[in-house]
Amino acid sequence: MVEKFIFIKEVDLNNNCPICYNNDGLYLTIKQKTIETSFYKAITPEIKYDMACKTCKSTIYPVNWTDDIELVFEYHKKAAIPRKPSTHLKKASWLAIFSGIIITICVVAILVYTNL
Ligand SMILES: [Zn+2]
Repeated sequence: MVEKFIFIKEVDLNNNCPICYNNDGLYLTIKQKTIETSFYKAITPEIKYDMACKTCKSTIYPVNWTDDIELVFEYHKKAAIPRKPSTHLKKASWLAIFSGIIITICVVAILVYTNL
């Protein structure tokens, strides 16, 4: 199983960076988790938020967030429209499903014929 985070959007924040105090480097990256196996590919409802600063190249962890950052974060969290969680079956799954149906039809046919 492969877990991947797909990029949803990046938002520039006008807040002061808690590390370097610059106010034009902070940005928030929003990503959504996807899962891929040999049978299906799914978009999960799990969202990951990463905050970092372009000026000092630091990752800003929630422990370092100021009240202002938290407010802005809550706002963007609500404004971000993630992809609808979904599951796409791959060829292998369809083949398994179709073979299942065909086997069922054969079994039913055999049962019907032997009862005649
Ligand atoms: Zn910074």
